[in-house]
Amino acid sequence: MGGRSATAKPEKQLPDEGLEATNGKPNGKAIAKTPASEAAPKPKKWTIEESEELYRIQGWGDPYFSINAAGHVTVSPKGNRGGSLDLFELVNALKQRNLGLPLLIRFSDILEDRIERINSAFSKAIARYSYPGVYKGVFPVKCNQQRHLVEDLVRFGKPHQFGLEAGSKPELMIALASLKTPGALLICNGYKDREYIETAMLARRLGQTPIIVLEQIEEVELAIEASKKLGIQPILGVRAKLSARGIGRWGTSAGDRAKFGLTVPEIINTVNQLKAANMLGCLQLLHFHIGSQISAISVLKEAMREASQIYIELSKLGANMQYLDVGGGLGVDYDGSQTNFHASKNYSTQNYANDVVAAVRDACAIANLPVPTLISESGRAIASHQSVLVFDILGTSDVASETPEPPQEDEHLIVRNLYETYTSITAENFLEMYHDATQFKEEAVNLFGFGYLSLPERARAERLYWSCCHKIIALSRHLDYIPDDLEDLEKIMASIYYMNLSVFQSAPDIWGIDQLFPIMPLHRLNEEPTKRATLADLTCDSDGKIDQFIDLRDVKSVLELHALKPDEPYYLGMFLNGAYQEIMGNLHNLFGDTNTVHIQLTPKGYQIQHVVRGDTIEEVLGYVQYDVEDMIESIRLQTEHALEDDRITLQESQLLLQNYERSLSGYTYLLS
Ligand SMILES: *Cc1c(COP(=O)(O)O)cnc(C)c1O
Repeated sequence: MGGRSATAKPEKQLPDEGLEATNGKPNGKAIAKTPASEAAPKPKKWTIEESEELYRIQGWGDPYFSINAAGHVTVSPKGNRGGSLDLFELVNALKQRNLGLPLLIRFSDILEDRIERINSAFSKAIARYSYPGVYKGVFPVKCNQQRHLVEDLVRFGKPHQFGLEAGSKPELMIALASLKTPGALLICNGYKDREYIETAMLARRLGQTPIIVLEQIEEVELAIEASKKLGIQPILGVRAKLSARGIGRWGTSAGDRAKFGLTVPEIINTVNQLKAANMLGCLQLLHFHIGSQISAISVLKEAMREASQIYIELSKLGANMQYLDVGGGLGVDYDGSQTNFHASKNYSTQNYANDVVAAVRDACAIANLPVPTLISESGRAIASHQSVLVFDILGTSDVASETPEPPQEDEHLIVRNLYETYTSITAENFLEMYHDATQFKEEAVNLFGFGYLSLPERARAERLYWSCCHKIIALSRHLDYIPDDLEDLEKIMASIYYMNLSVFQSAPDIWGIDQLFPIMPLHRLNEEPTKRATLADLTCDSDGKIDQFIDLRDVKSVLELHALKPDEPYYLGMFLNGAYQEIMGNLHNLFGDTNTVHIQLTPKGYQIQHVVRGDTIEEVLGYVQYDVEDMIESIRLQTEHALEDDRITLQESQLLLQNYERSLSGYTYLLS
């Protein structure tokens, strides 16, 4: 994953084929018109259809997530195959079982459905193009290594001989121990040493089908030596650096200077080395990976053309070619726009499978060669949907909104000007008035700097400015388009909602690579969300925030949310975050892993299969080498001294120690 960068924000492009984009406006930023402000005429009753449109849940959530008549998000873990749960009620039930928020809920049925879908897409494509070969997918373990998930994957994948892909030695250990499906493939990628290669080769003796993919030129010699030493004929593959490359964030995963894979001259060297060692028959697989989240199908088509030709040429050079592994990259439509925007994709899984199958069939037919077994290493597309991160809002901070008092005659001119601006704002002139108000405010700050304005006068001027802004924002929301000048205003005026969550722990890609995940309330969806908010997390880091949200066009800088009600929790869900987030999460500010539950649908409702408790404070302190006993002892000694000096009462010292010890054994997040 790349470093942090400011993202360019391109206009989304419509799909170049296949799917129709939803009715986007031709240019400008389409904004959700619906949430009217307090100042607007009383709107008609808010409907769940309006919430559906606002949060785009049908776009990214279908067929797993929707909204019910009670205004709650529901989950249908088996997709179109029936059965659904009210997510809000589920969260309440889990809370009663002492599973506090934030909580990661995994739906194993969704995982099963994802595996079914990708296999069914390839089956259909194989039937449609009369492809005389099969598809055998593998799950790249790096996408989510959690044991329960990998075990589920292997179990659900069994009917399809679905295998695993390892990208490192630890992942190889997982794959070797977990994969027990006869005939399923174990693709061995990543940097390899002698031990890695020997272990993979020996696994053939266990009845496994490991395929060692040569990614670095040094690995060729290691593989030849290991084969000679062990007397095992391995199945070998080569990873090609294609010149076709992905677009967007992972575009540089391919190309001549990519981190992994062999260039064409290196592939030729490999063929010669294997031939000299009398092992050319071992070379059976061609692999490429052009980067994750391929958003445009045209990129895949181009890669398929190039890869098919390399495959055919390898055959002609005498390799015993059997497999073509198209890597990962199958995208997830995070914003539901069906475009080639980085958070979307302009093709369906079926389009993807069709293009892979058709390209290989055509190329092999022309070359008069048997077709290979097709392999894909789709991680994101399989693991993203299965988990929902649920968190609560602890409080909010708003820009004060007030109806200002008229100024006294002797008040400062700048104050009187601002008040006059405030009273003159109309639906016709609000943009002009916004510029006036902004200029007056800047003048007020300057006057203050030169000592011409007192602190109370400056405060009055600033409050008047915010009153103007409130009035302007309220009027602008009735427009179809927000003028560019007012875009920032929406952001500046946004409420801050404080999440009981660490972005660094639970959604590191939001922080690291500006990833977009759909976020929405789990309830109150039959109520109008009158607030515009950005989200701030629990860490003391200004980067611990979310201020980019999915939108039909581009991204939006504020999320429509409901005003908090006293004594009532407000739950938000972050969706499609089942790939890559958990393992890349870090302990910034020592917020640990969240609680996790695995839920399976049953005819009567659901069953909790596993509960994985989140880290306790004691555990995260252990990661940084603190000894909890020593820490308690330190506090105890300090209280003894304080008692001796009469600085603390016995009661206070007991309370302090109790709190200290209870905190250590508790959750790292706030109790709600
Ligand atoms: C990361 C990776 C994958 C998974 O990619 P997705 O885009 O998540 O499907 C597959 N293959 C290789 C070699 C990878 O490095």
